[in-house]
Amino acid sequence: MNRKIASVIREYDCRLCNQRHKITLSNHLLKDIDEYPFPYTFLHGEIKNILTTLYIDKNLEIRGVEVRELKDSDLFSKDQVLTITTTLMKEIEQLREENESLNKEILTIGKNSTK
Ligand SMILES: [Zn+2]
Repeated sequence: MNRKIASVIREYDCRLCNQRHKITLSNHLLKDIDEYPFPYTFLHGEIKNILTTLYIDKNLEIRGVEVRELKDSDLFSKDQVLTITTTLMKEIEQLREENESLNKEILTIGKNSTK
């Protein structure tokens, strides 16, 4: 059975870059979430010095945006490290699953190529 991997592209305004960023959010993010909106934290910017937290609801809509520029003197709190790590782990897991399903598709295409 192929798990359906769906993702949407959302936009958010970043008050630090004064830009509208696009971000791809996968359904996969909703896995293991039992409280909405949930925080999705990552770093962006040229030198990845902008800590971004998006609050995402169960329709993958962005409900809130928090951006904070990290200074050299900034230390991550334990909670921040945990949310960033969780985000990365989910992304890795998502890539792994996408890779797996793409491999399956390639096999299927190979089998059906005589059609
Ligand atoms: Zn930005």
